[in-house]
Amino acid sequence: MKRVVIVGASISGLATAEALRRNGHEGPIALVGAEPEAPYDRPPLSKQVLTGQWEPKELDLRSPAELDALELDLRLGVRATGLDISRRTVSLGDGATLDYDALVVATGVRARRLPGTERIIGVHTLRTLSDALALKERLCPGRRLVIVGAGFVGAEVAAAAHGLGVEVTLLEAGPVPLALAVGEAAGRFLTDVHHEHGVLVRVGASVREVVQERGQVTGVRLADGAVLPADDVLVAIGSIANTEWLADSGLSVQDGLVCDEYSAAAPGVYGVGDVARWHNPLFDTAMRVEHRTNAAEQGMAVARNLLNPEARRPFAPVPYFWSDQYDVKVQAYGHLRDHDEALVLETTTEGPQLLVAYRKADRLVGVLAAGASPKILRAWRAVIADRAPWAAALNRTNAA
Ligand SMILES: Cc1cc2nc3c(=O)[nH]c(=O)nc-3n(C[C@H](O)[C@H](O)[C@H](O)COP(=O)(O)OP(=O)(O)OC[C@H]3O[C@@H](n4cnc5c(N)ncnc54)[C@H](O)[C@@H]3O)c2cc1C
Repeated sequence: MKRVVIVGASISGLATAEALRRNGHEGPIALVGAEPEAPYDRPPLSKQVLTGQWEPKELDLRSPAELDALELDLRLGVRATGLDISRRTVSLGDGATLDYDALVVATGVRARRLPGTERIIGVHTLRTLSDALALKERLCPGRRLVIVGAGFVGAEVAAAAHGLGVEVTLLEAGPVPLALAVGEAAGRFLTDVHHEHGVLVRVGASVREVVQERGQVTGVRLADGAVLPADDVLVAIGSIANTEWLADSGLSVQDGLVCDEYSAAAPGVYGVGDVARWHNPLFDTAMRVEHRTNAAEQGMAVARNLLNPEARRPFAPVPYFWSDQYDVKVQAYGHLRDHDEALVLETTTEGPQLLVAYRKADRLVGVLAAGASPKILRAWRAVIADRAPWAAALNRTNAA
C-alpha cells in the first residue's frame, strides 16, 4: 500500500493519518480539507467557545510542529468534488487530481438548515469555528435567542447562552426532547435541568416560518400562529452527511457512506467518523455515529487494517459520548437508539443524578449517566462489550 488520500481534515481524518505514521507507513499521505483552518476540535464550539472560556487557538488538535512531523501533503481550503473508483482518483475543486492506492472518506456532516433562511441575518447553524464565532458575538445579556431543535447541540447552546445572560427559548417539535436519542426518562430529566435554570423549553412546537424585517430575523412563527420574538435564531435540527462528492462514484450512500464491518465501502475505499454508516458487529446493526471518540477510534482502526490486511479486524466499538449542560455532565456508552426499554436505576434531584440502562430484545445495549461519576460507567461499558443478557448484566453491574 503506497499512496493514501484522506478526504476530510478533522478528527477522524487526522486520527487516520497519525495512526498510519505511528504504525509504520512511510509512503505519501494527502490530507484534503474543505475548511481553511488546520484540524480543530468541534465539541468545544457549543461549550467553551461560546462562553468565552477558550480562544479559538485552544481548539487546535495539533500544533504546527506536530502536523509537520506527520509529513503530510496537507491541502486545506480545498474540496474534493469527485471520485473515480476504477481509476482510483479523487478530483479536487482547484482542478488537481490525486491518485490513491487507499482512500479514506472522512468528510463528516454539516448542519441541516431551515429552507429559505440561509440569507436572513441573525439565523445561525453551528458546525464550524466560524459559525461559533458568529454566534458568540451575538450572545449579549438581554438579547433573545430562540433555538429550533432541542437535541444535544441545541441544549448545550441553551445552557451556554443562558449563562451569558441571554433570554433563551428552546423549541422541540416532539413531546419530549432527546427522546429518540436517549429515551423519554433521560429526555425529561434534562428538560427539567433547563427549566430549573430558567430556560423555557416548549415541546410540541413546530416552526412554520422564521419572521424577518429587512433581512434581519425578528422572530419565529409556530404552527399555531404564535410568534416568539427573537434577536437571533439557532437552527439545530440535525445534520446531513457530506457525501455529494461521491454521487457518481458508484459507492452506496444511504444517509452516510455505507461500509462493511471493516469500515470498507469498496476495495481500497474506507469510511470513518460521522460520515460512515458501517456495520457494527457488536450490536449486529448498521450505525452512523456522530461522536468525537468514535471518529478518532474508527480512523485508528482503519489505519491498522490498511497496513495489516491479513490480520484485519472488524470495527466493533461500544460507542461513547458526553455532553455538558450547565454543571451536569451527561455520558453514555452503547447503542441507545431503537431500544425496547429504558430502565431508570437511580434518580435524584440532589446533584442531580440519573442512571438509565437500555435493553434491546434480551440484551443490555447501553447506559447513560447524568451528573454521576464517570467511574460508575466503566463497569457498564465492559458488560455491554461482553454482550451480556439483560438480567445477568444488571446483576453484574449491581455487584461492581
Ligand atoms: C457544536 C458541536 C458540539 C459537539 N459536541 C460533542 C460532544 O460533546 N461529544 C461528542 O462525543 N461529540 C460532539 N460533537 C460531535 C463531534 O464533533 C464529531 O463527532 C466529530 O467532529 C466528527 O469528526 P469527523 O472527522 O468525522 O467529521 P467532521 O468533524 O464533520 O469533519 C469533516 C471535515 O471534512 C470536511 N469536508 C466535508 N466535505 C468535504 C469535501 N468534499 N472535501 C474536503 N473536505 C470536506 C469538512 O469541512 C470538515 O472539516 C459535537 C459536534 C458539534 C458540531
